[in-house]
Amino acid sequence: MKRTKIVDIYAGAKPVGSEVSVMGWVRTRRGNKHVQFVALNDGSTIRNLQIVLDMEKFTDEQLRPVTTGSAIHIEGILVESMGKGQSIEIQAEKLEIFGTADPDEYPLQKKGHTLEFLREKAHLRPRTNTFGAILRIRSALAFAIHRFFQERGFFYLNTPLITASDCEGAGAMFQVTTLPLNELPRTEDGSIDYSADFFGKQAALTVSGQLEGELGATALGAIYTFGPTFRAENSNTPRHLAEFWMIEPEMAFYDITDNMQLAEDFVKYCIRYALDNCHDDIEFLSSMYDKELITRLESVLADSFVRLTYTEGVEILEKSGRKFEFPVYWGADLSSEHERYLVEEHFRRPVILTDYPREIKAFYMKQNEDGRTVRAMDVLFPQIGEIIGGSEREESYEKLMARIEELGIPMKDMWWYLDTRRFGTVPHSGFGLGFERLVLFVTGMTNIRDVIPFPRTPGNAEF
Ligand code: ATP
Ligand code: MN
Repeated sequence: MKRTKIVDIYAGAKPVGSEVSVMGWVRTRRGNKHVQFVALNDGSTIRNLQIVLDMEKFTDEQLRPVTTGSAIHIEGILVESMGKGQSIEIQAEKLEIFGTADPDEYPLQKKGHTLEFLREKAHLRPRTNTFGAILRIRSALAFAIHRFFQERGFFYLNTPLITASDCEGAGAMFQVTTLPLNELPRTEDGSIDYSADFFGKQAALTVSGQLEGELGATALGAIYTFGPTFRAENSNTPRHLAEFWMIEPEMAFYDITDNMQLAEDFVKYCIRYALDNCHDDIEFLSSMYDKELITRLESVLADSFVRLTYTEGVEILEKSGRKFEFPVYWGADLSSEHERYLVEEHFRRPVILTDYPREIKAFYMKQNEDGRTVRAMDVLFPQIGEIIGGSEREESYEKLMARIEELGIPMKDMWWYLDTRRFGTVPHSGFGLGFERLVLFVTGMTNIRDVIPFPRTPGNAEF
């Protein structure tokens, strides 16, 4: 008999009274000498399926290996349940055991493990309700992201993960090398001889696909990337990973206003998609961790995001009378306490902050007439702070070069980027969304280590 997934059983794929075959992992077994009940989960849904084992048909011996964590196959009849808590159940006819899970060894006994404990068991935590829900939501959001861009005629562009240009400046980089670290080849002046390295020059893992994304946008019109990004920032925060996934759309003929609208439409689309398609999982996480979750998600969809300049934002913060850990003044890089004050206390909805001081933003951002700000935009969210960072890009070759020289950025490996401005340059814009920050927001989790299957952070690359 062909196996049916539990999610499909609940969706009515098989009529009551029919024979079904299900496979999954045992969450619990309880009962008495006449009847035993197994809660079975196969990962397809947060919902367990109740299996009823009539002990006239099965022996104690047969059921002994059916413990929490074991994997089994059941064939039986789908019936309406008379018990509380479920509408249907399976009257078991046949039991097959795929794999046992010794109760003295299997770490996920029943309920109530802390998220910290589960981080140490990241290889098994997908089998818990919490991580099953998070990983299904993460998968749905990834699909929504592709769908949003594909529906709008954006092309999916794969930018390189290994790069030899480090001037993006978005974060510290992980070097990629095949040189023998214990006897590095040296040049005459004693520095490392990278010409002997694999790529013939110093290389690293990318911190952003943006620069190559711009090459795609100025050819295909509108592209998006969706891939891993690496930052060797030694910051142990609940919002930073050393390896995370980023979505970076880049569009020709977009100014910053178009860019802001796209960013707002995009995050709203993803949140709507999750609410419509991951209802059971979101409901579960809300009931377990955060009663406000669904209200918060709905409220972000209800209003348009506030648009505010950095200068106005700083004035609000200065006038707030609030004692912040880090001081606010014009020119300061805002930290998440400042961002969250604006979003959670002052406006009570997401804020898009624009026109930042050029000194705290990247060289490629379009310079404003005032000579001191650039057309940057950060989307700030409740609970998260910065979820998106982007800008209109400087399209003038002269202005871009002037800024590069001012900052003393070594451009010899960047000739290809400058060519976008030398040949058929156009106004263009783009942004980057940290995928895990979106998943954090939608799941209501508070630590970024809990929304990626296998987190990489300083001192941790297990699994
Ligand atoms: P932050 O100020 O929060 O460190 P950033 O300004 O350095 O972020 P950008 O370079 O603008 O980040 O990257 C674009 C987006 O990528 C950010 O808005 C954020 O959502 C996400 N992001 C950046 N760094 C990380 C990280 N270390 N882990 C997870 N997501 C990140
Ligand atoms: Mn940023």
